[in-house]
Amino acid sequence: MNGRKPVKVISFDGDMTLWDFENVMWHSLSITLKELRRHIPGQVSADLTVDRMIEIRNSVAAELKGKIVNLEEIRFYAFKRTIEFLGFSDDTLATNLNDLYLKHRFEDIELYPDVIPTMDFLRRDFSIGLLSNGNGYPERCGLPGRFSFVVFSQDVGVEKPDAGMFFAACKLAGCAPCELMHIGDSLESDVAGVNRIGAVSVWLNRDAKQNDSGIVPDYEIRSLTELADIVKRSR
Ligand SMILES: [Mg+2]
Repeated sequence: MNGRKPVKVISFDGDMTLWDFENVMWHSLSITLKELRRHIPGQVSADLTVDRMIEIRNSVAAELKGKIVNLEEIRFYAFKRTIEFLGFSDDTLATNLNDLYLKHRFEDIELYPDVIPTMDFLRRDFSIGLLSNGNGYPERCGLPGRFSFVVFSQDVGVEKPDAGMFFAACKLAGCAPCELMHIGDSLESDVAGVNRIGAVSVWLNRDAKQNDSGIVPDYEIRSLTELADIVKRSR
């Protein structure tokens, strides 16, 4: 207990904590690229790669930073730019590619195997939330009805590690910052942010990476199943 108040609320990061976002993004972009090549055949689309599409998306997101926050909208502009990169202009195709991408990006998500057992265990005693800079809507990602609150940066207007994201979670859950525990895979976004408001930070380090960031989590785990022991100690 370390003299702290007991934890009442547990929030999870989404991407790379509950599901492998990189994997589903890559998979969905590959399907979308195939469709794009069907509409715009020839050498120019044959030479296009998923890596290049990711670069285009990132540069579009950087340009739109502060202007557009909705991630699906940013993705649409990324497809629009990708088509322009091939020498064409076609908003209908960009819309269709975006729809196709989003369908797979949500529906093909695979939860890590420790997610459901951990949530089933924790839901008995804790209010559970999702706190994400992404757009993994629980009802579209295989987790309908699992969370009592959801905080997306595209709605709050700031991103983790901004304390505003974590305060928003406390407000929705009706708890004090010290009663919140947050679990995430990113030291920079999740752990540093939680530490800023004095909540309990848990770094999910699935690949046993070295931590030379200078950011110190309260707890470090390799699997979500380890949370059972941690919550025992935090009550
Ligand atoms: Mg993450």
